Amino acid sequence: MITIPHEKAMKPCPFCGSTDQMVLPPTCDRNTPYNENDRAFPIVRCLGCISDISGKDFDASCQSAIDNWNRRIPIEAGNGGDGWLPIETAPKDGTQIDLWGINLLHHAKKGERIVNVAWGPVIDWMGRERDDWQHGRGGDFQPTHWRPLPPPPSSSNEGEKQP
Ligand SMILES: [Zn+2]
Repeated sequence: MITIPHEKAMKPCPFCGSTDQMVLPPTCDRNTPYNENDRAFPIVRCLGCISDISGKDFDASCQSAIDNWNRRIPIEAGNGGDGWLPIETAPKDGTQIDLWGINLLHHAKKGERIVNVAWGPVIDWMGRERDDWQHGRGGDFQPTHWRPLPPPPSSSNEGEKQP
């Protein structure tokens, strides 16, 4: 089900400028028996560039997702224009993103970028499964920022053009 309960409260997309967003409520609540097709958290999704932002689990009002959406700073105006966004606002629905974080093994705690990372199940060093960023570095990497993947080249492959 798609609803847009807070349309007027939504800011334009910080990535593409579109004002065309939809709000997807959670598909289950705390009392719903587990089903892998259910999503516990609400999502705000931009229909212009298909980037999205999630909210708190079981927030049927969707307000947490809307707040997270509105908290993002437009790329051209925020964070020195570097395009990096706070990790708290990153999508946790399996979307691949780029992460920036701290390499805790480095003697100077150097910042580092890891590309094509999604949120999902990971196995820790004890063999236990939990949900986390799938960067493959375990506790040695602490994400602090994220950004969406760049779009593919628009004119580099003539073979992909439709007839
Ligand atoms: Zn957009």
